[in-house]
Amino acid sequence: MSSNVVWHTHPVDQEVRSEQKSQRPLVIWFTGLSASGKSTIAGALEQILTRQNYHTYLLDGDNVRHGLNNDLGFSHEDRQENIRRVGEVAKLMADAGLIALAAFISPFRDDRRLVREILPEGQFIEVFVDAPLTVCQERDPKGLYAKAVRGEIKQFTGIDSPYEIPEKPEVHIRAGEVSVAEAVNQLLSYLHEIGALQAGYEPVALEA
Ligand code: ADP
Repeated sequence: MSSNVVWHTHPVDQEVRSEQKSQRPLVIWFTGLSASGKSTIAGALEQILTRQNYHTYLLDGDNVRHGLNNDLGFSHEDRQENIRRVGEVAKLMADAGLIALAAFISPFRDDRRLVREILPEGQFIEVFVDAPLTVCQERDPKGLYAKAVRGEIKQFTGIDSPYEIPEKPEVHIRAGEVSVAEAVNQLLSYLHEIGALQAGYEPVALEA
């Protein structure tokens, strides 16, 4: 970075913006294998939070690759850059006072740690969406595992590219065993426990 680029502090900061929204800014980071349920669970949580008047934004892996990161592939370097950029965007969103939800395979521990480190203390919540590979392969909503097994997609996480399991995630969802509603309740309960939700919360009705 050029030494001529100097950080400018503005009068309206994260505190002002989050007070205006009456909420604690957060980045809720979902990591896990493809088809483990990251997008589905993040979307369901966002729906509940929005209904309860929280201000949110869901950054979704596939969607971001259509725009901001459409120049990136799936090599180790490109995956690193994908997460670095998304981490910076999530940080901007938290700085705007939002509850940002990010659903990315984000298979590498170091990349996730870097995102944690650029955020203010306590604003990064790592959620491990843990479904066994066999379950993900059975679900395979986009037919990607089938393609990877046939060798039509290279460097596919879980097949010919590694997934590094989170060592100390704030929330560990056993997504092969629990329903989406149960996963959302687990998250709401955690957010409540850490004081991130204002006035309690309504548990989600458990449907099938
Ligand atoms: P990811 O974002 O991790 O790639 P998706 O959410 O896109 O995963 O896909 C997961 C698929 O599994 C969806 O079709 C979802 O409906 C299905 N599914 C079935 N059971 C569950 C569960 N308990 N939790 C999350 N997703 C589930």
